[in-house]
Amino acid sequence: MRLRNFQHLQSVVAPGCSQYFYYGVANYVFPSRWNNSDVGFARGVYVSFGIHPHLAAEGVSKRQMDQLDSLTDSHLCVAIGEVGLDYTTTCICRPCRNPSRCKEEARRNQEEAFINLLLLARRKSLPVIIHCRDCGDGSAAKRTLELILHHNLADMKFHCHCFEETIEELTAWQQLLTIIFGVSGKFIRNNTGLEVIPRIPPNQLVLETDSPFLSLFAWCPVNHPWNLPVIAAEVSRLRNIPLSVLMWTINDNALKFFQMPKQRE
Ligand SMILES: [Zn+2]
Ligand SMILES: [Zn+2]
Repeated sequence: MRLRNFQHLQSVVAPGCSQYFYYGVANYVFPSRWNNSDVGFARGVYVSFGIHPHLAAEGVSKRQMDQLDSLTDSHLCVAIGEVGLDYTTTCICRPCRNPSRCKEEARRNQEEAFINLLLLARRKSLPVIIHCRDCGDGSAAKRTLELILHHNLADMKFHCHCFEETIEELTAWQQLLTIIFGVSGKFIRNNTGLEVIPRIPPNQLVLETDSPFLSLFAWCPVNHPWNLPVIAAEVSRLRNIPLSVLMWTINDNALKFFQMPKQRE
């Protein structure tokens, strides 16, 4: 997301919803963009820094870790992530001579990056935004949870970013003491979403767009933060609660989870 002014976002969202948008978190997941995190100057917009698993698959350098270490000291940084496991990652070699070796190496690198960023988040007392993707068999989420439990990090705060899994996986994630699930436009259009969205406990729900990705409309390939009211309206309908109650709840969840506004603001 590249958003110059949060007031602009508030002014363009649908009437009846705008007064509920107080804070936002922009996720900087591509190291080449970390230094563009100028949204921080807009009141109400906070940032997170992470490494998308597609890039972590290539390995994370010591220099990148040092850079993350200093970026996350910013009072505008409220989380570390996205980071996690993505089993849809493809290697960059063309042509690929050994797909199974590349796949194995990508997974190893993603796991190493995930654990290193978890440890950084623990040291900085920051929540972690988890990106988990696979081909629909739940294997990435299963392995992610295994790693968290194996490293005794289940007491950290986790945000399952763009959650689009099943009831069983929802329950599995709830082994973690503090977890919130981000619902995006893609999930509200998906059959599993129709069943799962109403089952997410109210205190574990937040909304997100994943902009500029996961576009909501075929006529507009680029997603925008101001599509949030569309997601909010649909989630309120699926959960059968007034939009105002939903917005109050998700704001409250996000403020508590990300500890916004920061004391130094
Ligand atoms: Zn390859
Ligand atoms: Zn993601």
